[in-house]
Amino acid sequence: MPRKRGRQLIENVEVIDAGAKGKAVAKAPDGRVIFINNAVPGDVVDVQTYKRRKAYYEGSAVAFHALSDRRTDPICEHFGVCGGCKWQHMDYESQLHFKQREVINNLKRLGGVELPEVSPILGSSEQYFYRNKMEFSFSNNRWITQEEMAEGKEIADRNALGFHIPGMWDKILNLNTCHLQRDPSNAIRTFVKNKAEELQLDFFNTRDQEGSLRTLMLRTSSNGEIMVLVQFFREDQQACKALLNAIQQEFPEITSLLYVINSKGNDTIYDQQVICHAGRDHIFEEMEGLRFKINAKSFYQTNSAQAYELYKVVREFAGLRGQELVYDLYTGTGTIAQFVAKNAKKVIGVEAIPDAIAAAKENAQSNGIDNVDFFVGDMKKVFNKAFIQTHGQPDVIITDPPRDGMHKDVVQQILNIAPQRVIYVSCNSATQARDLALMDETYTVVKVQPVDMFPQTHHVENVVLLERRS
Ligand code: SAH
Repeated sequence: MPRKRGRQLIENVEVIDAGAKGKAVAKAPDGRVIFINNAVPGDVVDVQTYKRRKAYYEGSAVAFHALSDRRTDPICEHFGVCGGCKWQHMDYESQLHFKQREVINNLKRLGGVELPEVSPILGSSEQYFYRNKMEFSFSNNRWITQEEMAEGKEIADRNALGFHIPGMWDKILNLNTCHLQRDPSNAIRTFVKNKAEELQLDFFNTRDQEGSLRTLMLRTSSNGEIMVLVQFFREDQQACKALLNAIQQEFPEITSLLYVINSKGNDTIYDQQVICHAGRDHIFEEMEGLRFKINAKSFYQTNSAQAYELYKVVREFAGLRGQELVYDLYTGTGTIAQFVAKNAKKVIGVEAIPDAIAAAKENAQSNGIDNVDFFVGDMKKVFNKAFIQTHGQPDVIITDPPRDGMHKDVVQQILNIAPQRVIYVSCNSATQARDLALMDETYTVVKVQPVDMFPQTHHVENVVLLERRS
């Protein structure tokens, strides 16, 4: 029988690296790289490949001949099925080691820039329960695990409240316990699921676009405030109210109990009206005496404790003495701008989302900060010559773009201005490396500080300080 294209058993390979989108890496005898989704560097494994390309294979380890010293037992019962926390089987020190390595490799290989000694990555004091925001989906068609199938029992309960199975838009894993957000996150999610079933509310069916309950969002803040948002598909006043009232009664500590009725095809709430059922429509997060108001649609860094560490690095790199004009590009709700404002003469924040800028202005005002100004618009359009003529030539630019990095016109504009210092915060060191290469003629990389915002995942944040040459 002809072998199915790309499927092949590669025996006895040693896993040598980890990082590439969270996968482990080995070398096949034919020289190709193998990306493996369930191994740890140091393991010796047989790999069943399921994809073959010119330069690499993708596969799963199907037999283990030696287990790595870097291994540790995952604490979560959903490990391996759930898409989150994929690095739980590797000890935290090793996670940090491979994150550090990835940053250095990307900056060197993709950026080709000369690097100073890279500071050791700042690990997170909390390695679990560090997220302040979670979004769970309802489904009446839950994912059935292989173990359940093997048991061969009839599966009565098909409802789920949990996460999407990686790569399957219509399959949801029902969560028993999630280790990402602290209590009462699990208690609220479990209660909502049970109560919804008791009230006979329909869980959503993505394929048929039918059912009542769509998503549940939970936000917690470091001062103990809690936001709960239930997203319904249908306007069914009685049933919605019954569920919301039950949640309120069971968890009187909830600060903000909200809901959305969304009958669109997709379940993002950003273009929807958020209705307040009980309490206020927002919670507060605090950082070094600053208060940030967070509503259902606000962006806020999801690991609050590490966000503080990250911002302290940014402030230190900025080296402000009180006289500088600072630009904070991709400012979101203006948190970095406000965090550095007392050390600067003035800070100007720019951001694409109008609601975020409205929140930034409101927060700055209630924090009593009057030397910040915020502007809305697409960076490549707003951040132009006229803008700089109006608002002044910045002495320092802080930039914190999304995963894609900066648009090349934005990079060019920074080069046109050529401030003495640029602090580049990135959640994707590959695109950061690409942008640094474009800036290499004008700027030297003076400091590099990786920060771990997301333990148990491969994601890594990186802060770079650039100084103008000459
Ligand atoms: N610095 C902020 C948020 C950074 S996240 C903080 O620490 O909280 C990146 C931000 O870039 C998001 O708020 C996103 O809305 C914004 N953004 C993405 N693309 C943009 C663009 N083309 N122009 C302006 N802002 C953009």
